[in-house]
Amino acid sequence: MAFIEAASPHTMNTYGRVPIALSHGQGVRVWDVNGKSYLDGLGGIAVNTLGHNHPKLVPALQDQIAKIIHSSNYYHVPNQERLAAKLVELSGMTNVFFCCTGLEANEAAIKLARKFGHDKGIERPEIVVYEKAFHGRSIATLSATGNTKVQQGFGPLVEGFIRVPLNDIEALKAATEGNKNVVAVFFETIQGEGGVNPMRIEYLQQVRKLCDDRDWLLMIDEVQCGMGRTGKWFAHQWAGIVPDVMPLAKGLGSGVPIGAVVAGPKAANIFQPGNHGTTFGGNPLAMRAGIETITIMEEDGLMENAARVGAHLKGALAREIGGLKGVTEIRGQGLMIGIELATPCGVLTQRAADKGLLISVTADSVIRLVPPLIMTEAEADELVSILAPLVREFLAQ
Ligand SMILES: *Cc1c(COP(=O)(O)O)cnc(C)c1O
Repeated sequence: MAFIEAASPHTMNTYGRVPIALSHGQGVRVWDVNGKSYLDGLGGIAVNTLGHNHPKLVPALQDQIAKIIHSSNYYHVPNQERLAAKLVELSGMTNVFFCCTGLEANEAAIKLARKFGHDKGIERPEIVVYEKAFHGRSIATLSATGNTKVQQGFGPLVEGFIRVPLNDIEALKAATEGNKNVVAVFFETIQGEGGVNPMRIEYLQQVRKLCDDRDWLLMIDEVQCGMGRTGKWFAHQWAGIVPDVMPLAKGLGSGVPIGAVVAGPKAANIFQPGNHGTTFGGNPLAMRAGIETITIMEEDGLMENAARVGAHLKGALAREIGGLKGVTEIRGQGLMIGIELATPCGVLTQRAADKGLLISVTADSVIRLVPPLIMTEAEADELVSILAPLVREFLAQ
């Protein structure tokens, strides 16, 4: 432990870190520098889609590193075209802009929405956002985020956002009534940081229709819930809808930093040369990581695995702890599961780590499970066998 406590004297104090340093991983398991092993229920926050040291991903990335890591967007990048073609095929949309993170993808979405408005003669475009939303920590994306803790100390916030509650079509209509400046509606299909809060299928369909009727962009942040995690490539596909703009990141590169904004016909031609860009975005290494992630997911049926193992995990959790007083709800889809307790339960992160399980607690009282999509039913059972006693013990205190 002494090593760990002295381990971060020179990095900024931006995270309340669990006093563990991970050294390597294999599949759904990771080891710390002291040799202790953990089952990975967090997947680097929904990032490590293929788990750790994947036998197909590692050689592919090594091959790419030996060829070219970075060129520049001054030139054509064939891997960008390949990954874009894949994302277009999977999403039913048309064009992609690549960047490096989730906030960057959302920043690009916000810029798309504003320029969509300006191109129509709207001088002060406004975007509808949601309570409890999380879109990132740049000044614009934290302004779109619905959590005052994220915003505290960083005002003045960016203007042009209208905030509404989840799953309430009448509230959305009321908040935008007669407002000619509205250009877009922007939300996560299943809120991640906000506590694993799903948008209802009927609501998704209602918002799609409203956006069509009013000529607004439907912008769906699939940074956390996308990339097969829920058992569809993108979580909104459960509602049979297609958005106009879709930011992606986290799981898209299985750990290599990557972000993307996928656009449909209404948003595909808004940006012209000079409007937007990023030095690292779309570099050949990150693109290769994205291509390989999708290819391996297809070859190994990982989206189906996420649906099956996720349902198994949720069922086991429901059986073991679902009926306990103090467990408010177990929700989510596929391998994106939230267990809401009636009291703040942040201490469980450390307690689970002590027992060899990595999880996170978000929105103070929601245990979040977003493991790699390669998890097996046996590993899901193992997860429950560690977590359930901890929850019981916590609630009995
Ligand atoms: C994590 C997250 C982001 C921000 O992504 P970064 O890569 O941390 O900038 C944005 N939106 C959602 C839904 C997220 O879960």
